[in-house]
Amino acid sequence: MAQIIKAIRGTRDLLPAETALWNRVERTAREVFARYNFGEIRTPVLEATELFARGVGEETDIVSKEMFTWEDRARAASEKPQSLTLRPENTAGVVRAYIEHKLHDTGQLQKLYYIGPQFRRERPQKGRYRQFFQIGAEVIGPASSGSESPLRDAEVLEMLAALLDKLGIPRASAANEYKGWRLLLNSVGSSTDRPRYVAALREALAPVKDRMCPDNQRRADTNPLRVLDSKDEADQAIIDALPRIADYLDDASKQHFADVLATLDACGVPYTVNPRLVRGLDYYTRTTFEFTVDLGLGTQNALLGGGRYDGLSEMLGGPRAPGIGFAIGEDRLILTLLALAEAKAADEGEPAPAKIDAYIAPLSPAQNAAALALARILRGAGLQVEVGDGTFRLKKSFDAADRVARHIVILGEDEVTQQQATVKAFASGEQRKVEFHTLASTLRA
Ligand code: AMP
Repeated sequence: MAQIIKAIRGTRDLLPAETALWNRVERTAREVFARYNFGEIRTPVLEATELFARGVGEETDIVSKEMFTWEDRARAASEKPQSLTLRPENTAGVVRAYIEHKLHDTGQLQKLYYIGPQFRRERPQKGRYRQFFQIGAEVIGPASSGSESPLRDAEVLEMLAALLDKLGIPRASAANEYKGWRLLLNSVGSSTDRPRYVAALREALAPVKDRMCPDNQRRADTNPLRVLDSKDEADQAIIDALPRIADYLDDASKQHFADVLATLDACGVPYTVNPRLVRGLDYYTRTTFEFTVDLGLGTQNALLGGGRYDGLSEMLGGPRAPGIGFAIGEDRLILTLLALAEAKAADEGEPAPAKIDAYIAPLSPAQNAAALALARILRGAGLQVEVGDGTFRLKKSFDAADRVARHIVILGEDEVTQQQATVKAFASGEQRKVEFHTLASTLRA
C-alpha cells in the first residue's frame, strides 16, 4: 500500500497554497505574451519517439538517456508497434504542429506560446524533477515573414526581461551584490558554421581527451559541443584552451549576432556574451541564450534557455521555416519567487494570509438550505464565500470563519424569516443586521 500513496520519485503534488502562486505566474506570462502578440498552442504530451530523435538529436543526453519511451502495442496484426515518448520538451511538438497544420502556407510569422508538463528521467534534486513544467514560446515562419531577422531574437529576449521584471525578480547588479537574473548569450553559427567548428573541436580534443573525465571522453567522440558546458573542475583548463566558436562564424552569422546585441543595447536589456554557451540540443543555430538566477536555485541556476533553430522544420521533413524560442523552467521560476518572498518576510515580517469575503454560518441544520441559497447569490455577485454547517456550535463557526474570512454571516431562524443576516466584520469587531439584498455591497466594502 505504501507505494500507491506516494507520488512517483521526481514528481510531486502541488497543493492550493502553492498553486495560487503558480496561477499568478501563468497569468502574468499570458498577459505579457499577449502584449507581444503571441497566441497559445497546446500540443499533446504524447508524441512519436522519432520526433525527438530527429528534432532534438540522438546524441543528446535528453534523447540518449532521459526520455520515457515505450513500444505501444499494435492495434491490428498488420500494424507495426509504434514507439511513443512523453515529451521531454515542447519545441519539437510545436514545430511538428506547425508543419502538420500547414501554418507555413499562411505566409505569416507564427508567434506561439505554451505552458505545460515535460518529462525527463533525470536524477531528482531541488529544482530538477522528472515531471516539470515549462512556459515557452516560439516565433517561426517562412523567411519572407522576417523570421530570420535579428529583431525577432532581440524581441524574444526583451519580452523575457519584461516578464521577469514584472514578476518582481531583480536584475543582477552591483546594487544587489549581483543577486537576480542574468542573460548569457552566444552565437553557435549557421548550419554550415557549426560542422566546421565541431570538426575543429574534435581535432583539438583528440590529443587531450585521454586526460579528461570519462564523461568528457565520451562527449569528445559523440557530441564534442557538450564538452564545452562540462562543469568538471579538473577539465576546465583544457576546455578554456579549446577553439572558440566565434572564430568559426561566417560574416552573415557575425553580423546577425552583432545586430541582436545592438538591438538589446537599444532596449536597455543587459547581457553577457558567453562563448562557451552551446546548450544541449542539436537544433540550435546562431543565437543561443540562457537566463540564470542566483536566488533559491542553488546549483540548478539555469532558469530558462533557448535559441534560434533555423533548420529544425526541415530536419522534421517540413518546409524551410527559421525560428527562435525559449523554455522557462516554471518549477525553478517558482523556487526563485519563493526565495524572494522569504527574504522579504525576513525584512518586513510575514504578510497576512489572504482572506475570503464571507463565511456563512447556519445556526441549525434547518438553515442549511437557506445558507447555500444565500451563498449562491453572493458568489454570483463575484464574492468569495465559504459555507459552514448547521450542526456546528456557534463557537466552532466563529473560529472557522475567523481563520478564512473577513466576515461571518450568521443565519438563524429569525434571520431567514426577516431576510436579514447578522454580519460581523472581524477587523473592526462591528456586528450588525444587514438586509439580504444589500449584503453583497456591505461585504465588498
Ligand atoms: P531545456 O529544455 O533543457 O533547454 O531547459 C529549459 C529550462 O527548463 C531549464 O533552464 C530549466 O529551468 C528547465 N528544466 C529543464 N529540465 C528540468 C528538470 N528536469 N526539472 C526542472 N526544470 C527543468
